[in-house]
Amino acid sequence: MFRIGTGFDVHAFKAGNSVKLCGVKIPFHRSLAGHSDADVALHALTDAILGALALGDIGLHFPDSDMKWKEADSAIFLNWSMEQVKKRNLELSNIDLTIICEKPKISIYREQMKQNLSKLCPLEYDKINVKATTTERLGFTGREEGIASICSILLHETD
Ligand code: MG
Repeated sequence: MFRIGTGFDVHAFKAGNSVKLCGVKIPFHRSLAGHSDADVALHALTDAILGALALGDIGLHFPDSDMKWKEADSAIFLNWSMEQVKKRNLELSNIDLTIICEKPKISIYREQMKQNLSKLCPLEYDKINVKATTTERLGFTGREEGIASICSILLHETD
């Protein structure tokens, strides 16, 4: 049995000096606004996992009205969703994650992001892809107003 899931998320920039993507802190002249640590990439991944499990979305389980999740490490959301995967005797087949922004440049952090996802999930490094793209200066990411991320994942039954 296979279960497929997709996730999408956006966070706007605010004043600050770093952004967190896939749990990796990247020095930048702005930060991402959000109730939690605003790790847009981990949110897209978590939503993809919840999607595959038919468990709603990240906002359902970790509402931004709950002060418990104020400035929370988004790895908590990912860990919880992976616990739900395990409970159902499923495991990740692969992760394909895309980060959409003009800046910061993602390419130099790609390996670090893959290694971090590999540790967090956990999942073998060669089953994780992190892609980066721009929108050719079009739209809100093109105007450098924020960062978007999309993610696809596949789950399969454990042996
Ligand atoms: Mg989010």
